[in-house]
Amino acid sequence: MTAVRTPGVPIVDNGELVSTNPSTGAEAGRFPVADPAAVTGAVDRARAAATWWAGLGFDGRRAHLLRWRALLARRITELAELCHREGGKPVADATVEIVSAIDHIDWAARNAKRVLGHRRVRSRLLLAEFSAHLEYQPYGVVGVIGPWNYPVLTPLGSAAYALAAGNAVVLKPSEYTPAVGQWLVDSFAEVVGEAPVLQVVHGLGDVGAALCRSGVGKIAFTGSTATAKKVMAACAETLTPVLLEAGGKDAMIVDEDADLDAAAEACVWGALTNAGQTCIGIERAYVVTPVHDAFVAKVVERAARLTVGDDGADIGPITMPDQIETIRRHITDALDRGGRAALGGADAVRPPFVHPTVLVDVPEEAPAVREETFGPTLTIRRVADVDEAVTLANAVSYGLGSSVFGRRRAVAVARRLRTGMTAINSTLTFVGMSTLPFGGVGDSGFGRIHGDEGLREFGYARAVTRRRGPSLLPATTFDRTPEQVTRIIKIVQKLYDRRA
Ligand code: NDP
Repeated sequence: MTAVRTPGVPIVDNGELVSTNPSTGAEAGRFPVADPAAVTGAVDRARAAATWWAGLGFDGRRAHLLRWRALLARRITELAELCHREGGKPVADATVEIVSAIDHIDWAARNAKRVLGHRRVRSRLLLAEFSAHLEYQPYGVVGVIGPWNYPVLTPLGSAAYALAAGNAVVLKPSEYTPAVGQWLVDSFAEVVGEAPVLQVVHGLGDVGAALCRSGVGKIAFTGSTATAKKVMAACAETLTPVLLEAGGKDAMIVDEDADLDAAAEACVWGALTNAGQTCIGIERAYVVTPVHDAFVAKVVERAARLTVGDDGADIGPITMPDQIETIRRHITDALDRGGRAALGGADAVRPPFVHPTVLVDVPEEAPAVREETFGPTLTIRRVADVDEAVTLANAVSYGLGSSVFGRRRAVAVARRLRTGMTAINSTLTFVGMSTLPFGGVGDSGFGRIHGDEGLREFGYARAVTRRRGPSLLPATTFDRTPEQVTRIIKIVQKLYDRRA
């Protein structure tokens, strides 16, 4: 029997997960749902594949990963169109996302050896007879659980780095974007056909939960804060380490010496790209009084010119139909509390679309200011100075990204923000910078993807000491004499019993 469909809401039909486009309801793909035994089977196969993959060494893996990144670059349009067909994301937005993912694969492949490979570190004087060595070993199998909003970049931000580090990966894509997840895995298999180094398991949240309990070496989760807590609780049962990339409520601060045109343009893009369904999307702006009114006018003017719709529009549909009620609630609550819609408002919500909405004078305790809205909305608040802006920006439980526009004080302001990342005189740019770590604090999670830190997340540090000569002052043996212990004390006092 075929189940009833609401556009965009995935259903399970005869044991298959069926994903549909949120605007048209057209089917994007159907995939067998993995039961717990299938999840365990995939992890078992991955374990064997990981041994082969790790055995290739950094240079062998690099060659395979660079071939995969070349394949993605060749087929970028095909993948962007699939992202559009399945999640509703404008093709241009999907293209930008894939470009960033390709760069991350390239960087992870080229830098894994430098960051994770064997290196000698300095010995300390008290153990001078030993050499010291450090290297990072893969965990074996890494489970990657991804969201739907950036179905290429977010899973690959973990998976590419985990693969470069020598792990096999089992990916559980969001139930809203299984076709994109399947495409990624199939494309990898085209260049690495020898063993199932990258696999996919499909299904609803319970499949993600089964992956957490399947005995993988580490879980890399990207998704909401609420689910992150469930993932961590499930992983606690087996002490499986977790990397959690969760939600955000990112703020932009605009100082009086900012380039206002650039700030407004970046704010509109940062807030409204991907219909605001961006973990690091700008959801709040704090603007100092002298430039507040001009900034609001510029933002409204630019945002009002954006097109909303399905094919070729700047802003596509809300991918997850349930989210529309959250967006509606945040807007109406903000207006009920005395806020004003400088653009859009309650009637901007026209499912499956939400038109750009700019809210001003919204009290700070409103959900529109404190909770993740995940829609094409923005609050702008007037502040007396950047000190007030920093205090308000830091007053939420999230701490993912942020943005500062200004000249003289911008760097100093950026340093005071309690967020994992800040863009100065731009928005969101840190996510594409493969050399930089990506992640948050507080309710935004912990651990880092991307950059050196992102590689180290997928290898555990292994420390080795190696004797290179006899011990003149043996401490770590029962054969030490009282005289030797007395000499050790004297040396330690000579070395350390002094001020810095
Ligand atoms: P969810 O938390 O709803 O889902 C994320 C993933 O977890 C999905 O694959 C989901 O499967 C799976 N899942 C659900 N329940 C469980 C469970 N009990 N155990 C294990 N896995 C489970 O997030 P969304 O997909 O709605 O993504 C949006 C959220 O992601 C936003 O909060 C956004 O801010 C955040 N995000 C964070 C990023 C970051 O880097 N910090 C980047 C991108 C998004 P299913 O879909 O089948 O339910």
